Amino acid sequence: MDEQSARKLIVEIGKLMYDKGYVTSSDGNISYRLGENLILATPTQVSKGRMIEDVMALTDLEGKPLNDKRVSSEIQMHLLIYRMRPDVNAVCHAHVPHGTAFAAAGLSIDAPILSEVILTLGCVPLTAYGTPSTSELTDSLKPYVEHHNALLLENHGVVAYGKDLWQAFDRLETLEHTAKIAILAKILGGANNLPKDAIEKLINIREKAGYLTEAARCQACGYLEHTDIKCSLDAESVNNGNSNGAKISFTREELIDLLNQAVSLQN
Ligand SMILES: [Zn+2]
Repeated sequence: MDEQSARKLIVEIGKLMYDKGYVTSSDGNISYRLGENLILATPTQVSKGRMIEDVMALTDLEGKPLNDKRVSSEIQMHLLIYRMRPDVNAVCHAHVPHGTAFAAAGLSIDAPILSEVILTLGCVPLTAYGTPSTSELTDSLKPYVEHHNALLLENHGVVAYGKDLWQAFDRLETLEHTAKIAILAKILGGANNLPKDAIEKLINIREKAGYLTEAARCQACGYLEHTDIKCSLDAESVNNGNSNGAKISFTREELIDLLNQAVSLQN
């Protein structure tokens, strides 16, 4: 997508976010990857409901300004996602009320209660609180970015991303809709989880149809715990140090000791 069309679409999505109550005041931000090292993003201190195409800031992948507009202070969260996910070209961050209620209550959106959500979004994990616009926040997102397409930011808000601006927005919308339904179902006495075989069928369908790749099997929360489907990338993730933070290391002596213990247990 060319720069002018991207500016136009960010204005349109900003209005949608504002009109739907996903943001108030100058909350939230939207960005788009225009080129390998070129990001177009909403500026700081501007209502997403009242933007014009000219207000957008340009930065490189490290956040260095490339025009005279001041980018949102939360850009580092977007840049982390672009650096870790070459397939992602758009990011939407908002303080959606129902999704953020989960984040404030310390809960993930991970109950297997809606077939569409398992098909198109996957579970949404809660990431630990970090002060907005600091490396605390980006550090706590890191373990989750690779295998999820939306995250809850504890006591703050949510972020969703995708291959283009509409997919990022659609995922944000699905997240918020799911959170709202989960809260309403709770008021009615609690939602029923889908049975194991139904979840497995949905995971197979989403991979065949290309809605989500096998990488989504490695999600940190939720549905897989209810099935026999395994994440085949786990070994690879551990080697890369991206095993959702669960990296363990031993000295040679400790490892030999552990193996000896295992052998003597078997005998
Ligand atoms: Zn925020």
